[in-house]
Amino acid sequence: MLDKVLIANRGEIALRILRACKELGIKTVAVHSTADRNLKHVLLADESICIGGPAAKDSYLNVPAIIAAAEVTNSIAIHPGYGFLSENADFAEQVEKSGFVFIGPKAETINLMGDKVSAINAMKKAGVPCVPGSDGPLGDDAEKNKAIAKRIGYPMIVKAAGGGGGRGMRVVRSEDELIEAIAMTKAEAGAAFNNDVVYMEKFLENPRHVEIQVLADGQGNAIHLGERDCSMQRRHQKVVEEAPAPGITPEMRAAIGERCRRACIELEYRGAGTFEFLYENGEFYFIEMNTRIQVEHPVSELITGVDLIKEQLRIAGGQPLSLEQSEVQIRGHAIECRINAEDAETFIPSPGKVDMFHAPGGLGVRWESHIYAGYTVPPHYDSMIGKLITYGENRDVAIARMRHALDELVVEGIKTNVPLQQKIMADENFFNGGTNIHYLEKKLGLN
Ligand code: ADP
Repeated sequence: MLDKVLIANRGEIALRILRACKELGIKTVAVHSTADRNLKHVLLADESICIGGPAAKDSYLNVPAIIAAAEVTNSIAIHPGYGFLSENADFAEQVEKSGFVFIGPKAETINLMGDKVSAINAMKKAGVPCVPGSDGPLGDDAEKNKAIAKRIGYPMIVKAAGGGGGRGMRVVRSEDELIEAIAMTKAEAGAAFNNDVVYMEKFLENPRHVEIQVLADGQGNAIHLGERDCSMQRRHQKVVEEAPAPGITPEMRAAIGERCRRACIELEYRGAGTFEFLYENGEFYFIEMNTRIQVEHPVSELITGVDLIKEQLRIAGGQPLSLEQSEVQIRGHAIECRINAEDAETFIPSPGKVDMFHAPGGLGVRWESHIYAGYTVPPHYDSMIGKLITYGENRDVAIARMRHALDELVVEGIKTNVPLQQKIMADENFFNGGTNIHYLEKKLGLN
């Protein structure tokens, strides 16, 4: 087992990792920016080191400072959390070259999945269903590109191979828009991602976002932990997540899950990962793989009883998976509401001091957050200040618990999106389940 882990992240996920380390008897090192001296996990860690100024590039993205911190503290491994350096293959490589364990897949796997064209090709080879598309990068031949688009059929979407965060894509509805759309996406991708490779795929009009959680030990064992529905989104940002996904039968889950599990074995995947799919008319279409732990991992933990962070730590310590596929049982229903420090109507971030704070509780209520009364939310980072997760023996119970838990949560001094989450939890279509990725923006009159 790993003796000491450096947590290269902040906020709720850093605290979540710290708690898992404590349970396993692993010593912890917190690294933080000058703006984050009072973060809860920094105060609770065995050791803490300031690695730079408030701007992420000076601290949480500062690779030499993080590796130096691992050296001076004699850490064994580095957990990158999500965001920041978690999907940076160069970082993973440098961590391992410096003699530390990177808690995640090998750098080459991160690279393969970080490029959407190579990821799609790898998935096709492994038998994972993908969106019909150009099967590779687009060249400069306009006639050829028109022919590819015709074969796929309009509407289609031009996407950057190196794109991320919902940027670098353009929907094309007819042939007269095609050539300009390719040129514009290419130019933008070159500027934003330093990689102007673009490809095409069929544009699905009203899909849901359904993703499969996997764990693999890099020793030939892999399992899937069922799916999550993350269709409630605004600007491609997830707002509410749940597991299981409404309407997905055990047979459908087993079929798509098995494809993902097999792909992990074929890729010699190591660690936790997520296969993201668009789901429409009963079919799954792979869009990308995330090679890290995700924000919404708790809903999968609640319905399977598997602690995903502890599994990550065990795998990184060289241990085989602690359970087999046949031991993964899905039970009940879990919902997560992301709680952000922002205006619930304008979405303008609202950093500042938390004057008063009261956490919700009760049976089936889980609160993952680093905030406390007197804590100041800095303006430099993502606005998410916590995640409220409820569990119940079925979806109706999970929703009922979420409604009362949201009512119980008190955060004063800053604005939060709790009123928005209350609105979603009271929504009849959400209650019925299965709304698509455009639903929230339509409901809010944003499109
Ligand atoms: P990113 O890496 O930027 O998150 P993704 O490939 O995961 O990019 O796509 C982000 C979002 O864009 C999806 O969740 C979906 O809303 C939309 N999208 C991407 N590809 C398609 C497609 N082929 N059809 C319809 N919507 C798509």
